[in-house]
Amino acid sequence: MDTLIAFLLAGALTLFFVRGYLKKLTAGKPHAAALPPRPQRPCPRCAKPMEKSVAFCPHCGAAMAMWIVHQAPQQTASVPGGKAGAPKPVINASLCIGCGSCVHVCPETGTLALDGGKAILSHPERCTGHAKCAEACPTQAITLSFGGVLQTMRVPLVRENFETNIPGVFIVGELCGMGLIKTAINEGKLVVDHLRARLQKAPAPASDEMYDVAIVGAGPAGLSASLSAQQHGLRYLTLEQGEIAATIRQYPRQKFLMAEPVEIPLYGTLYVGDGTKEALLSVWETIIRNTGVQIRTNEKVLAVERNSAGFHVRTATGDYRARNVVLAMGKRGSPRKLGAPGEELPKVSYRLIEADSYDDLDALVVGGGDSAVEAALALSRSGKNRVTLCHRGDDFPRLRERNREKLEAARAEGRVQIFTGARVTSITAGQVHLDVRGRPLTLPNHLVFVLIGGESPEEFLRKTGIEIVEKSLSA
Ligand SMILES: Cc1cc2nc3c(=O)[nH]c(=O)nc-3n(C[C@H](O)[C@H](O)[C@H](O)COP(=O)(O)OP(=O)(O)OC[C@H]3O[C@@H](n4cnc5c(N)ncnc54)[C@H](O)[C@@H]3O)c2cc1C
Ligand code: SF4
Repeated sequence: MDTLIAFLLAGALTLFFVRGYLKKLTAGKPHAAALPPRPQRPCPRCAKPMEKSVAFCPHCGAAMAMWIVHQAPQQTASVPGGKAGAPKPVINASLCIGCGSCVHVCPETGTLALDGGKAILSHPERCTGHAKCAEACPTQAITLSFGGVLQTMRVPLVRENFETNIPGVFIVGELCGMGLIKTAINEGKLVVDHLRARLQKAPAPASDEMYDVAIVGAGPAGLSASLSAQQHGLRYLTLEQGEIAATIRQYPRQKFLMAEPVEIPLYGTLYVGDGTKEALLSVWETIIRNTGVQIRTNEKVLAVERNSAGFHVRTATGDYRARNVVLAMGKRGSPRKLGAPGEELPKVSYRLIEADSYDDLDALVVGGGDSAVEAALALSRSGKNRVTLCHRGDDFPRLRERNREKLEAARAEGRVQIFTGARVTSITAGQVHLDVRGRPLTLPNHLVFVLIGGESPEEFLRKTGIEIVEKSLSA
């Protein structure tokens, strides 16, 4: 009994001292609930309060980076690119998703390169300040500074609900200024949410042939808009110039995607990150199959024209009428096509990314401009591929002098064989068929790169009457 009393007394004493010690420790310190709140700001789109540091609004899903671009001051005077000192692209590795767009657009071959899935400035001395890399980068990972004058970016002018200066025409996704799969998907959904609310207040259309919305492009933004339109029972029409998710299809093989999970209408959460492009495309195809979402592929939109009742959306085979138009066309433009049988085969591409990843292959490059010649040179660099350049004209009159010299050297060394006055007549799985000055020629072939120009999205926007502004972005 004595032992029990002694034990209880010792326990009570210990508790007393421990409590006192803990009180002392916490004295003067704010309680967890009293911690200062994290810096907040209103979402520029839905106006609800959110933490300053978040990338996407937790209420409406809008991408903050897009608003950084759209709220930036408008550049009025032209930027004296490259005049004040040597401009250098600065690449933010944590924003870089390794898409290679900067490498592809830079006219000074070799200035930028991909290394370990990130862009690097491999030859800074070659940079002459075109700033095309910064413009093409979908994530704004590149900034350029010209002796204190900062980089600018050309973007279509849009309001908080993605509407342009033409009422009823909206722009979402990468074309809007900011590129990422998640951003594009969120914006596709948001724009349809807005349209749905607007259509509920508007009088019904006079004709049954009038779509509520025509969606141009079936990349992540257009697909998400289409799924959302289907979910809400809108009359929609989606037109895609190539195949569904054409930009993603053109990523290098087995490219790992960097993206956060995202909500897809009619599907649920899509975990894009840590997968390959092939895995994403396969999920995408399943979504399309299971939801029955309707997309007209291989039908390029040539023009969008306004009339008193809405819009005419014109393609080579159709003239559709819609009350609203959502442009989800991305930034890669419309490559000009050959129109030859077999062009739809997966081995045919309209851009070259990571030339070094091709080894011991028969490659045909079609075109006579700098892009085509640079692609042929890049493919021939290792000396392991057998590269043919096929050009319709007799000469290469528009070629830059340096490329002309390099092409001559590559021809002399047998690294590139050149056919001028030539055109592709058809493409089959293992061959390409050419017509060279009236004579047929068949070559073994694994890859075809068609680099014969095309229409930029900016040209399309201008033609449609959409205002484009230049924004100053800080480095
Ligand atoms: C090589 C590469 C790697 C990338 N890696 C990543 C990554 O890892 N993670 C990430 O988040 N983002 C990545 N991106 C960026 C991402 O692909 C884009 O931000 C995203 O695809 C943009 O979606 P979008 O729907 O706005 O445009 P896009 O995906 O470009 O889709 C636009 C669609 O519109 C079609 N179209 C264009 N013009 C017309 C017309 N006139 N008529 C009909 N259809 C038309 C096009 O064919 C295309 O299918 C990468 C980009 C590239 C190029
Ligand atoms: S364009 Fe931007 S995201 Fe793509 S590789 Fe270059 S820096 Fe990286």
